Amino acid sequence: MALRPDTDVQFIKGVGPKLAEVLGRRGIRTVKDLLEFYPRGYEDQRAARNIASLKADEIVSLKAQVVKVHALNLGRSHRKMYDVVVRDASGQIHCKYFRVPYKGYFERFSPFKEVRVVGKVIEYRGRIEFHHPDIRDIEVEEELQDALIPLYTEIEGVSSNKLLKLIRLVFEQVKSTPDFFTENLPMWIREKYKLIPRELALKQLHQPPAELAKDYFEIKSPSHRRIIFDEFFWLELFLAARKSGFKKEKGPLIKGDGRLVKKIIQSLPFQMTAAQKRVFEEIKKDLTSNSCMHRMVQGDVGSGKTLVAFLATVTAAESEFQSCLMVPTEILAEQHYLNAKQVLGGAGLRVGLLTGKTKTAERREILAALSQGKLDLLIGTHALIEDEVKFLKLGLVMVDEQHRFGVEQRGVLKGKGISPHFLVMTATPIPRTLAMTVYGDLDVSIIDEMPPGRSPIQTRVIYQNKRVQALDFLQEQIKKGRQAYMVYPLVAESEKMDLKNAVDEYEKLKDQFPNVRWALLHGKMKSEEKEQVMASFRAHQVDVLVSTTVIEVGVDVPNANMMIIEHAERFGLSQLHQLRGRVGRGEHKSFCILIMGYAVSDEGRQRTEMMEKTTDGFKIAEFDLEMRGPGEFLGTRQSGLPGFRMANLVRDVGILQEAREAAFEVLRRDPHLSQSEHFKLKEELLKTHGPLALAGIA
Ligand code: ADP
Ligand code: MG
Repeated sequence: MALRPDTDVQFIKGVGPKLAEVLGRRGIRTVKDLLEFYPRGYEDQRAARNIASLKADEIVSLKAQVVKVHALNLGRSHRKMYDVVVRDASGQIHCKYFRVPYKGYFERFSPFKEVRVVGKVIEYRGRIEFHHPDIRDIEVEEELQDALIPLYTEIEGVSSNKLLKLIRLVFEQVKSTPDFFTENLPMWIREKYKLIPRELALKQLHQPPAELAKDYFEIKSPSHRRIIFDEFFWLELFLAARKSGFKKEKGPLIKGDGRLVKKIIQSLPFQMTAAQKRVFEEIKKDLTSNSCMHRMVQGDVGSGKTLVAFLATVTAAESEFQSCLMVPTEILAEQHYLNAKQVLGGAGLRVGLLTGKTKTAERREILAALSQGKLDLLIGTHALIEDEVKFLKLGLVMVDEQHRFGVEQRGVLKGKGISPHFLVMTATPIPRTLAMTVYGDLDVSIIDEMPPGRSPIQTRVIYQNKRVQALDFLQEQIKKGRQAYMVYPLVAESEKMDLKNAVDEYEKLKDQFPNVRWALLHGKMKSEEKEQVMASFRAHQVDVLVSTTVIEVGVDVPNANMMIIEHAERFGLSQLHQLRGRVGRGEHKSFCILIMGYAVSDEGRQRTEMMEKTTDGFKIAEFDLEMRGPGEFLGTRQSGLPGFRMANLVRDVGILQEAREAAFEVLRRDPHLSQSEHFKLKEELLKTHGPLALAGIA
């Protein structure tokens, strides 16, 4: 039978049900999936490698002999590391595995066995080694004649070599199938961005021309460029279509005469920064236009996003529209509420607070006021999403620290009004690549200026042995009338991890320093307790808050000028930056001390050192993205980030930019994708994202 791209792999000649099942477990179900199982690297057979010649970061393949295999326990946990030591005439190298690739993997390697090792050379503590390389028996390897051999990630005993043969077989089999390879990109895009045909790109990735060896090694070949461009382009076209749909959505008509805004700005104890003014103008322009706002406000911690959000609320209220502000924690909701009452109350705006713990009677009152239009702004947590929360005239939906909420939650909130304007504020600065992908359908405003008079937070990384000095310094600050935070990775003792925890340390610190007023705050406490603790900290009845990451987002106590984070290596970089953002909010010089545990990985050390080097949230975010990859960075599975097969958001940012440009230009040229050269684009959108994706271009 003729193979089509969507033909099941089991119909490929030479693939039986068993192999099909193995491939299926890796997500390779169709012929297309198989052709898109790209090589992880290439081997240049003309330059045989020996162990002594290896350099860090190369992807290599070499012949060696097994010396021994052994398993080591990792720390106190039950996890094991496997180490396969191999050697050749020039030296030996360790192949480390932190998980077992599949059952029986290591049993195959008896001493003296001849093997081929394929993988990326890693430098670790000044030595080179392999992490999770593919190791296969040399006996099963036939001599391959090509100078440049693709190397595939081994799949449960299906060697790279076998995959190579299988893929070549597919190319043979589809040779005579007409239109097997369709070209979806219009000619003008291929020409403008110098892209080779997709068919050629696919073929050459699996059968690279030897003279381009260097380009293939460096993932810079024309084939790579084409495939990476494609992956980005389809996502960007989807986002561009969504955005164009947003633009057509009519928003509530807000006049924005500015009379209340003026009043509030005059009542502020400070001047707005130029960046705050600019961003507010951008928002106001959206609110008073015909179409519905979908905007993201980015700004580093402490840049003053809240005020901008409040002014947006006021603008809506000038035309009698209600607003809501959803935040991720009760503490933050409470704080925003107090702040809003103070800032907005003067102009006669009425503010309400609704969280999971709002008492029934109070809740009933708030909901009634809301539905009668007697509240201008409702602040709250997830509780805002519930069905009973009904507005009379919702004009503006705002979400703070948005990466903690899913896209669906945005949708539910928006559904409480008739196409209300939508504003998200992100606490974590978003690296440019993510702003172009995950948030690529939103307009972006950036507050790139801090309120005046803030001196940069002085940050130090120290080890446990200097902890005493850090605590002395803390006491000095308290004596001067300042306040502080001490942050721990755990609430309470854990069997699995040998780490200090907030509850125990709080007790110890209290005994050790009775002159200091300590309080404990963590996520497992009851809401009332948490609120009480925060209130006394705000009122300076407490000097030091011993806490977990519950204080990570938004907490704002300007008199607190010092933070000590214990086991700093346990926190993500963006998380450390967020935590640190709790200090440096007032006129006093601020300090952040990161205490490291003794067993710190290289990565943990690099992270904390970065904190010493800069307080620039954007730089930190870029670095964090690079270290952890986008999935971890966003910290959610529901981040909406597609799984790219080849594209890499950090490495390929240039191509991403071009693909985004191309996608937006397509819709500018042909807003309904009705020209024949763009039919395929429409088809593809429909196929991958469903009919809703076409709403914006219909
Ligand atoms: P974030 O952007 O992290 O949400 P906030 O909105 O919480 O920052 O603002 C941080 C602190 O700065 C708050 O105490 C706020 O009142 C204050 N602030 C905001 N704008 C200004 C300004 N223009 N001048 C001085 N202080 C400001
Ligand atoms: Mg904030």
